[in-house]
Amino acid sequence: MEGRTINARSRIIPRSEHAISRSNINPNALKVLYRLKEAGFAACLVGGGVRDMLLGREPKDFDIATDALPEEVKKLFRNSLLIGRRFRLAHVRFGRDVIEVATFRAQGDGASEDEARTEGGRILRDNVYGTIEEDAWRRDFTINALYYNIEDFSVVDFVGGMKDLLAGVLRMIGDPVQRFREDPVRMLRAVRFAAKLGFRIHRDTEAAIFELGHLLEEIPPARLFDESLKLLQGGCGLETFELLRHYRLFAYLFPQTEACLAKEEQGYPKIMLARALANTDQRIAEDKPVTPAFLYAALLWEPLRQALAEREAAGEPETQALQDAAKDVVDAQLAHISLPKRFSLPMREIWAMQPRLKKITGLRPVKLLEHPRFRAAYDFLLLRAESGEDLGELCQWWTEFQTLDENGRLSRVRGAGKAGATGKKRRVRRAKRKTAEQDKPTSNG
Ligand code: ATP
Ligand code: MG
Repeated sequence: MEGRTINARSRIIPRSEHAISRSNINPNALKVLYRLKEAGFAACLVGGGVRDMLLGREPKDFDIATDALPEEVKKLFRNSLLIGRRFRLAHVRFGRDVIEVATFRAQGDGASEDEARTEGGRILRDNVYGTIEEDAWRRDFTINALYYNIEDFSVVDFVGGMKDLLAGVLRMIGDPVQRFREDPVRMLRAVRFAAKLGFRIHRDTEAAIFELGHLLEEIPPARLFDESLKLLQGGCGLETFELLRHYRLFAYLFPQTEACLAKEEQGYPKIMLARALANTDQRIAEDKPVTPAFLYAALLWEPLRQALAEREAAGEPETQALQDAAKDVVDAQLAHISLPKRFSLPMREIWAMQPRLKKITGLRPVKLLEHPRFRAAYDFLLLRAESGEDLGELCQWWTEFQTLDENGRLSRVRGAGKAGATGKKRRVRRAKRKTAEQDKPTSNG
């Protein structure tokens, strides 16, 4: 693959020597590329879309880079909207499909895309735009800085990205220490791409990650929340988790969880997390919905369990202890990663329902089944059982209970007394119907 050289460092890989075909490109992105080209502008696909197509993977999105200024893009596309403050981007809308068009930029201060730098309230927008080559050098990894040029369908490579792509190497552009200092979230991105693509992180890039992980402490919790979802709900959550721990970054995201894992490297907490993440990956592979509430409930379960045990040992009643422990664990976590209320509330409900799931006498189970969070709480109970907690019988009880019709459920709970969750309920029910209500559940947790 020897392309034409356009300057000392760049290579042009002609259409005949790479695998990107227009038939794999989102038709709306193609429309935007052609329209820009017809208006006399340079227009390229760049970033994850190019990378993924070259690897034969299906891209998540198609980002476009151009030398047209945002205002010029806006004029060309009636269906477009300018967003962002410091770096203005155009969003071109085609129904629900949005194509992002960015003007080539030079190296900025490295802060996140949407963080505007201001001086006395004035937004600094000087020297923002640059050449395509400058645009390449300010990107994070070499494989993320390849341009697919609509002019001649070639791939333009200023940073040696093609070589790294073929070798399966994730390499920071420029000096990794400096680039990670500019934006520490790039360390998380390195791990995410390594896990997702099965790439190895280049030695120098890796060394910088081991050295600079602590810089993640300075990242605003809201940005870490967004990133945590990409890491753990991106389809390769388990692999990503293992790599995060390997690179000692996990501790900066979930310090309480890391403390539990460090104490018990192979035991319950590890098994539970691995299962939760593997389940999530599986669901994503099957196009089933996943929610951060469930994943976060699992991620923080072990710290919660330990805090709960301490409080109960000190004599606090279970329900109160659980509430207090949950508050402590969540408060401590929010100092690192923010968790929007729409996720933290259902997460706490999943936890709060765990002791309630043990009470399977009287009408309680019938009512619990109606609870909007029942399904998640039940799944969580299964997860705990699969991970080694002694809850097998209770899970079986709930699994069966859900298969019954209303009458079946009523007679089951009336008879649940003596048998508890042991499965002898049917026989016992007939004999001891009256005493059912007084009995205690059999499972622990
Ligand atoms: P994904 O498949 O997750 O979308 P992506 O590579 O497209 O991967 P995006 O977050 O969509 O990642 O970013 C698009 C491109 O913008 C990247 O490929 C990279 O070139 C550049 N980029 C994004 N974030 C950064 C950053 N923090 N520092 C430097 N460049 C970045
Ligand atoms: Mg992308």
